[in-house]
Amino acid sequence: MSKPIIHQDTKLGWLKAMQQHPLMIAGPCSAETEEQVLTIAHQLKDTTTTVFRAGIWKPRTRPGSFEGVGAVGLKWLQRAREETGLKIAVEVANKAHVEQALLADIDVLWIGARSTVSPFIVQEIADAMNGTDKIVLVKNPVNPDVSLWMGAVERLQKANIKNLGVIHRGFSTYLKSKYRNNPEWQLAIDFQNHFPHLPLILDPSHMGGRRDLIFDLSQTGLDLNYDGLMIETHTDPDNAWSDAAQQITPATLKQLFKKLQVRSIDADAADFKIKIKNLRKQIDTIDSQILSNLGSRMKIADEIGRLKNENNVAILQMERWNEVLERMKTASKNQNLSEEFITELFKAIHQESIEHQHTIIKNKP
Ligand code: PEP
Ligand code: MN
Repeated sequence: MSKPIIHQDTKLGWLKAMQQHPLMIAGPCSAETEEQVLTIAHQLKDTTTTVFRAGIWKPRTRPGSFEGVGAVGLKWLQRAREETGLKIAVEVANKAHVEQALLADIDVLWIGARSTVSPFIVQEIADAMNGTDKIVLVKNPVNPDVSLWMGAVERLQKANIKNLGVIHRGFSTYLKSKYRNNPEWQLAIDFQNHFPHLPLILDPSHMGGRRDLIFDLSQTGLDLNYDGLMIETHTDPDNAWSDAAQQITPATLKQLFKKLQVRSIDADAADFKIKIKNLRKQIDTIDSQILSNLGSRMKIADEIGRLKNENNVAILQMERWNEVLERMKTASKNQNLSEEFITELFKAIHQESIEHQHTIIKNKP
């Protein structure tokens, strides 16, 4: 983490007005029938839910799946709000959705991952929302591109939308992983560093894609000081019309919320402060040593670069690189470091060495 995480007090005012930490947004992936919406909303009323979500216009990756009930769902949501006092949230993906949602006085409008990827659609949505005091939440784009996410927020800020927040729902990858959408926590932390005042909400449902992953993801979010959770909830998850595998019942949501550890940003105890200061000093010293060791390693790589140049030898030596990587992967086990981390780290170090050696060869033909 490159910068300290910001305390909730510095967040936009709408979050404080919700008077809940972490803010809990729950409800079905899709509104299916009026009865389904009302039953779930009533059951969520007894949990710690503050905002009731339900998609009525569903962006499906492929045609042929259930695409949502459409505008009629707005009335069901209004009724759910009247009967339960919960705030209501829907996804909007174009100008017509925004107009209808605003007309229906929906409290929270969110922009889905498939919309955030498109500057044209985000601009259309921003124009349609211009100046609204409704809460607008922007999901991260499908692909791991923080600047697209930032661009979407900036378009909304330019349209004078003040009550903004973001939702981290993970990123799709080409490689198979246990998650439906890879968390890439560092991307959300980078994003948070650019917009420290924007409330950051985690969507462990779309991230995990499986109900058994929701608890651990939610706890990680709270450990990273996220401001809220958006969790898909259904009375009959297995028979949900969309995203069945990732929905949980309101009863499970209640248990999950009880089990979650909500962390505070800091502790006042003098003992804590002394101990953490001491540990952080040790970390700072080790970080300096890592940096100076990397510098020394790079000087030797430069030396090798000169030698290769004098002898007209290619920079990349696959055999040597594989040998280094394998040795470090094996050694990582004794240090309690994951193979993935060591692989990424050494790939980056190797890349830097190659760039150094390229510079040497370019400058001394
Ligand atoms: C949703 O929240 O129902 C949804 C479609 O999510 P995402 O945009 O994250 O895929
Ligand atoms: Mn869904």
